[in-house]
Amino acid sequence: MLGMSDVTVTPAAPAPSSRLQVRPEVEGAQPIVASDGRPLLQFKSPRVSQPPVHLADFTLAERQDRLKELGHPGFRAKQLSMHYFSRYTTDPAAMSDLPKAGREELVRAMFPPLLTEVKRLTTDNGDTIKFLWRLFDGALVESVLMRYPGRVTLCVSSQAGCGMNCPFCATGQAGLTRNMSTAEIVDQVVAANRALAEDALGGLRTDGGHDADRVTNIVFMGMGEPLANYKRVMGALHRFIDDSPEGLGMSARNITVSTVGLVPAIDKLAAESLPVTFALSLHAPDDELRDELIPVNTRWKVDEALDAAYNYYRTTGRRVSIEYALIKDMNDHAWRADLLAKKLNQRGRGWVHVNPIPLNPTPGSIWTASEKSVSTEFINRLRAAGIPTTMRDTRGKEIDGACGQLAAGE
Ligand code: SAH
Repeated sequence: MLGMSDVTVTPAAPAPSSRLQVRPEVEGAQPIVASDGRPLLQFKSPRVSQPPVHLADFTLAERQDRLKELGHPGFRAKQLSMHYFSRYTTDPAAMSDLPKAGREELVRAMFPPLLTEVKRLTTDNGDTIKFLWRLFDGALVESVLMRYPGRVTLCVSSQAGCGMNCPFCATGQAGLTRNMSTAEIVDQVVAANRALAEDALGGLRTDGGHDADRVTNIVFMGMGEPLANYKRVMGALHRFIDDSPEGLGMSARNITVSTVGLVPAIDKLAAESLPVTFALSLHAPDDELRDELIPVNTRWKVDEALDAAYNYYRTTGRRVSIEYALIKDMNDHAWRADLLAKKLNQRGRGWVHVNPIPLNPTPGSIWTASEKSVSTEFINRLRAAGIPTTMRDTRGKEIDGACGQLAAGE
């Protein structure tokens, strides 16, 4: 899912000159189509009731106002924020700095339960956990926690379901249930920190290496299209980055926002001066194929998405990532590696790196990951053209926790 691990690339045998071209189609699953027969894109969250408001929905100043409205002194905002963002607790019994009288009511008002743990799956070696959460209205979402040497990454969801309808992604097949609130997004991280404090990912390293004791990296690569839920995702980014007691005080560069390529929202994000890491899910350098793989490409073409990614780099100085799921005989042809390199180099040098990932098969999809030798050839061609390229590892496959496998089934 996340985590980059360099692979040793050995020279590949030359690929056969005329390779098969498989076209995207979904077998078994019913594709969601609009009245014009094209894949349906859902940008707007359906009108459904919203989760209760929670301390993490607000800035510190707004929390103070809210507390005053509830008849409490404003300074309680800081105390409650410390409990939540630094101690990861919402248990009134642990808040001995608050007066006993009225404490329960106050805590209930500021910390309504948002995520109920339904299931927790751990890989055999214990370094990856997938959480299945039930939201207040029964909607199900997942997050995936992964330990690496020196860091811990959480893959978070930003929507229940997704409206972008990418045929190779399990989440895309069910459509969009609703946007998640800022606090629902944030609470995934706080819950993960709580689990880490309870030693859910096992003991610390014994080789003397440093081990992170809380989530150090966040990737918006769980369920949903984060830029289709812009305002709430922006709120969550602030809670992640802003210092205690405003938020968790994480480093912006360790937070990755990944998108199918909603160009106006990418431009808006670039202008926020929040130096988060930006990732574009490209998966094809040519419009003909990308129109089918990433249906939103019918609105914003490959070149427009790449221009927006380049603009993100220019505005923030942050090198951007291009995600590319290698799918056998569909998008893994050598000429596509060359075309991708050409399009990236046309815009400049040193502004981008490519993260290929072998496709994780999803139920109903007829495709599989590329052959090893073909992936190697694809990576070699990009590198030969001067594009830094690192294969991503696919953590959590055995627990259906890898990229594109999050379907939130019970
Ligand atoms: N909507 C956002 C973030 C969610 S998906 C986006 O599309 O970027 C996170 C990443 O997983 C994306 O790059 C997505 O294209 C990729 N992905 C989806 N399904 C996959 C699959 N079956 N195998 C490998 N990667 C997949």
